[in-house]
Amino acid sequence: MYPRVKFRISARKDIASFGSFVGQADFDNGRSLRWAILRWHPLLRQAIKNGKIVDRIFAEKYVKDIYRKNRGIASKNMERYERDWRKKEGIFFEMTDDIFHGCPWPPGKYIAYATIWGMFPRFLDDKTFQVPMEYRNKKYIPVTIAHEMLHFMFYAYVEKNYPRYRDPEHNFFLWHISEIFNILVINSPAWLDVFREKNMLYPEHRKIVAELRKKYQEPSSLDADSLIRDIHPLVKKMMQEKKPI
Ligand SMILES: [Zn+2]
Repeated sequence: MYPRVKFRISARKDIASFGSFVGQADFDNGRSLRWAILRWHPLLRQAIKNGKIVDRIFAEKYVKDIYRKNRGIASKNMERYERDWRKKEGIFFEMTDDIFHGCPWPPGKYIAYATIWGMFPRFLDDKTFQVPMEYRNKKYIPVTIAHEMLHFMFYAYVEKNYPRYRDPEHNFFLWHISEIFNILVINSPAWLDVFREKNMLYPEHRKIVAELRKKYQEPSSLDADSLIRDIHPLVKKMMQEKKPI
């Protein structure tokens, strides 16, 4: 059974993800918080102090106002995203089965929520994620959905087959592996034929992707174990070099 992604608009979900950007800012020296939120919504600076939301009322009103003003455009865009995803989901699930040897999809809500933030978070626990309420290149949205869905499958596969990674101390390590994994898969020729847009990558992963890209050109080469085996030592090395973000 393949999960059917549902599309929803919820200001409350976006307020919650604002909270997670703020709460996790230490993780990357605030980079995601700046990229995703403060660059576009500088007014929200006043709601944050020392890694906490100090003015929740202001933040909630700010987000809800944007939702109220953009209700029409939000539903129009979410409908289009759903239509576009439905056209690609069949082939996406088949290609994903090949990579993960038919590993079953983990249970979860599989809801794509709109977001006004500039980065699109995922929530591994309940299998929800966010897509931009408004985006210039709408053809890119199916790529972001495929990207988040691959994360859900990747983590389910690792949980089952790589118990040594379960330790929370491996969280950041695993995050690097899964991001690089996604780029190698989605930017491979067979996937580009389907999605037609390149997945953007984190700058710190560029070197590893360039090193491995050639090996993963053929669809038959895209195998989860092989990818994990190849990416693992390079991420380990990168983390030992410890360049600050
Ligand atoms: Zn990702």
